[in-house]
Parts: sequence; structure tokens; C-alpha cells
Amino acid sequence: MWITRSQAPAADTARAIAAAAGVLRAAQRVVVATGAGMSCESGIPTFRDALTGLWARYDPEELATEAAFRRHPARVFGWYAWRRRLVRAATPHPGYHALVALERFVPELVIVTQNVDGLHRRAGSRRVVELHGSLDRFSCVDARHPFPAAAAPEPAEDTECEPPSCPECGAPVRPDVVWFGETLPAQATAEAWDLAASCQAMLVVGTSGLVQPAAQLPFIARDGGATVIEVNPDPTDVSAAAHIICRGPAGVVLPALVAALTEGAAT
Ligand SMILES: [Zn+2]
Repeated sequence: MWITRSQAPAADTARAIAAAAGVLRAAQRVVVATGAGMSCESGIPTFRDALTGLWARYDPEELATEAAFRRHPARVFGWYAWRRRLVRAATPHPGYHALVALERFVPELVIVTQNVDGLHRRAGSRRVVELHGSLDRFSCVDARHPFPAAAAPEPAEDTECEPPSCPECGAPVRPDVVWFGETLPAQATAEAWDLAASCQAMLVVGTSGLVQPAAQLPFIARDGGATVIEVNPDPTDVSAAAHIICRGPAGVVLPALVAALTEGAAT
């Protein structure tokens, strides 16, 4: 894999990447925890940055709580339909493809993401735990009966949109994402916590370390004896828990990490 001169990591980052490659080579189980920064590099606006145009007049609490959905279902459903269109227009950056390539070098690699855009799966990653749900899944607001995504309305415009009704119980259908005040999906959470406690290395990519409870994962991994590797252009609350810090965008650092592993494998 080639990286151009302008994309080459800085010297201290290159040393950190070499150290990270050494850790990954020896690891049996690796967890990659990703957050909003990963999506951002593919041009997907963060939750708050998505409050533009028609939606600029609303607070997040008016668009991402169950109470808001019950009061204004068309407004909330329309906002999520718009976000799905933004995601569909985006393409996974080289960091996503590097994580797919990383599966060749690690016996067990699992991605635990706070992102709801499905880009890891679209890029081809095989094991992805979605802690905050997915924009591509739907269920009814009362009983959480699953609803097929293919039957969800897709407005062509940035507009409000009436949600469909659940065929089982008649309740309005909502996106299967975690809203403010809701707990994380139990199965995904249990899996993520078990993986964090039992992995030998955790890559923390593009997360601020501010969103709970996902922010606990690097600390659980560290307590369990794993080497924590941060990949982020800026210092974060995770930096204190990290043994190795690769300062730079995921789209540059992760391909360089795969290149380091490839060189190591050839010698
Ligand atoms: Zn239902």
C-alpha cells in the first residue's frame, strides 16, 4: 500500500504506528472502538452538525428522544431520513478499508462502534457491534417489533415525513437508534464489555471519550491488561488511558498501520 508524501504520518506518529504494529502482531483478539471522528472524515456530519437547514431551529432533544418522536413523529422521522441520505451519499475513507485489511493480520478482530451509519459494514468489516443502533434498522415505538427497512418511506426532499405504522400493533415506526435517555441495546453492550475485558489490544479511533457509557471501554480494556492505542488527530479524554498514541486522521494512520504490518509480514 502506498501513501503519498502529503499523507505520510509525522515522524513521531510513524514511530507510534511501528509500535502499534508490534502490539497487533502479537495479539489474538483486537477490539477497534470507533466514534464520530471516523464518520466525520467521510464527510458525514456529527449529530450536532446535522442540525442545519430545515433542522437548524431544533435542539437535539427535540429530534432524538422518544417524547419528541411521540409529539412530532413526522419531524423526527424526516430528520432521520435526511441523515440516511447523507450517509448514502458518503463513501468509506481509506481508514475503513484499512480496518478490513487488518482482519488478515489478527486472529480475531471486532469493531465496536458508536456510529449509526453502517459504514464499517459497507466497507466490508465482518464483525461489527453497533452500540448506538443503526440508521438502517427500524422498529415500532411501543413494542419494538422489527420493521423492514425496504418498506420505510424515503422522501426525496429534506422534509418532514410521516412514519409508517407497525403491521403488528399499529404503533408508529421509529429508527432503531439509541436516543437520549435510552439505555444501550443489552446484547451489543454485553458483547462489547466482554470483548473489551478480554482483548489484548484496543484501537480507539475518532472517539472523544465523552459519550458514556462507551467512553468506559478503553479503561476496561486497560484494566484487563490490554494495550490501548489511540488514533486521533487531537488529544482526547482517552489519551490518558492510551499506551500508544498515533496522532493523525484515521484515513492516514490506519492505512500506514496496515502497511507496517504488511512489511513486517514480508520479512
Ligand atoms: Zn409494533
